Amino acid sequence: MKRIALFPGSFDPFTKGHEDIVLRGLQLFDEIYIAIGYNSQKDKRYFKIDFMIEKIQKTFSQYPQIKVITYSELTAELARKQKAKYLLRGLRNTTDFEYENSIAQVNRYLNNELESVFLITSPQFAAISSSIIREVHRYGGDVNSLLPYSL
Ligand code: ADP
Repeated sequence: MKRIALFPGSFDPFTKGHEDIVLRGLQLFDEIYIAIGYNSQKDKRYFKIDFMIEKIQKTFSQYPQIKVITYSELTAELARKQKAKYLLRGLRNTTDFEYENSIAQVNRYLNNELESVFLITSPQFAAISSSIIREVHRYGGDVNSLLPYSL
């Protein structure tokens, strides 16, 4: 049986920190599905969804075992449908831990076959967050060195 992991998130935008988690995750899983939570009816994204899908696909074009999908349902349900037994998440600090801990408990409650797996961020990416990138970009700052593709 293939080990399939979902890597769920908003990825608004997908950063070098996210890329690092996916590439390290390949040592643990046969396939990783980067799952962008997105509801077209309530689109509050800063970076357009189609643009981000294309950039992530290009980033991993050498890796047939990495797919990009979007979803607007419970992550636990998506995992069931995709036959993914693992949720991959990254941890930067204790704030991430507190948040991830409660999400993992809920996901386990909703789908008890689902195991959440956490990778600690690599130190060079620990300070990268999508929200800071949006803020810098909004005011015209150059964020390209924080992304695995160019804007
Ligand atoms: P969400 O909207 O679910 O918080 P994000 O797109 O912000 O989704 O992040 C998805 C996952 O990637 C989360 O587990 C988050 O903790 C992790 N992550 C975000 N930035 C980094 C980083 N710089 N290094 C490692 N993991 C990260």
